[in-house]
Amino acid sequence: MIPASFNYNRPESVGEALKMLSDDGAQALAGGHSLLPAIKLRLNEPDSLVDISRIAELRFIKRDRGTLTIGASTTHHEVANSADVKGAISMLAEGADHIGDPAVRNKGTLGGSLAHADPAADWPAMMLAVNADVVIANPKGSRKVAAGDFFQGFYMTALEEGELITEVEIPVPAGEYRSAYAKFEQPASRFAIVGCAVMADVSGGTFSDVRVAFTGVADAAFRDAGVEAALEGAPANAESIAAAAEKAAAGVDFMEDHYASAPYRGHLAKVYAKRALMALL
Ligand SMILES: Cc1cc2nc3c(=O)[nH]c(=O)nc-3n(C[C@H](O)[C@H](O)[C@H](O)COP(=O)(O)OP(=O)(O)OC[C@H]3O[C@@H](n4cnc5c(N)ncnc54)[C@H](O)[C@@H]3O)c2cc1C
Repeated sequence: MIPASFNYNRPESVGEALKMLSDDGAQALAGGHSLLPAIKLRLNEPDSLVDISRIAELRFIKRDRGTLTIGASTTHHEVANSADVKGAISMLAEGADHIGDPAVRNKGTLGGSLAHADPAADWPAMMLAVNADVVIANPKGSRKVAAGDFFQGFYMTALEEGELITEVEIPVPAGEYRSAYAKFEQPASRFAIVGCAVMADVSGGTFSDVRVAFTGVADAAFRDAGVEAALEGAPANAESIAAAAEKAAAGVDFMEDHYASAPYRGHLAKVYAKRALMALL
């Protein structure tokens, strides 16, 4: 548990951080809740850490007309307690409040969680369900990647070497949209063994623009097109939900570990799809 030696740098701006990250062997450090354990176990041996946690321009929450923007270094605790987030899409605040324990929520960041892309992390499913765009800075400028294209596999994302997530843009739709997140959590860490984030327009008592996203189920978070299609245009009631939830995670290659077998994860996907969708009613 003793890390190899590394240099520690604390830039004051995104520009300065990007310059430091262009050095070979440099890696961003945010809350450190995923990176530091990996360094202590020598699973990761960066030559230098670029501590982005105190860059003010990365730590904010802004609601502007139809968009909620959250800076990458904003902590889970800050999201959980933001009136702007609660007023825009309440699921995000509730989900953030169920990540880990107070120490994790006070140090861990939204950007760090997305970049790390743990297959059991809560944020990826929520970002997929809200149709978020991940804004990424690099020495040439910046680019936006839809959440659906960002998570690419087991701890794999669209981030390239030396790039930094700066913020996440979340459309806040008009109309009668509701959202919910339900998870079966590992009791010690609270990581999701299965987590399901849902968002839909329920105006007129009918489901439309249904988004259903899972984490914990497979090697990366994903949207469930089968459940979404089953609910599109269906009456917003318990019968439609029960029928649609039965289709959850069809054809998915389930993760299997010491917490849950593949068949058990498949069962939990149906149960938690139903619970999350029922919370919309
Ligand atoms: C005991 C414990 C319980 C936990 N429980 C949960 C849980 O219930 N649910 C859950 O979702 N998570 C959980 N976590 C993980 C936690 O949410 C971490 O905060 C998160 O995984 C990583 O965020 P971080 O800010 O700590 O990133 P770090 O550990 O600092 O970095 C993680 C990775 O992201 C990279 N990185 C960080 N920020 C950026 C950026 N802006 N741009 C590009 N790359 C970046 C780093 O280089 C590193 O590779 C838990 C962690 C612990 C230790």
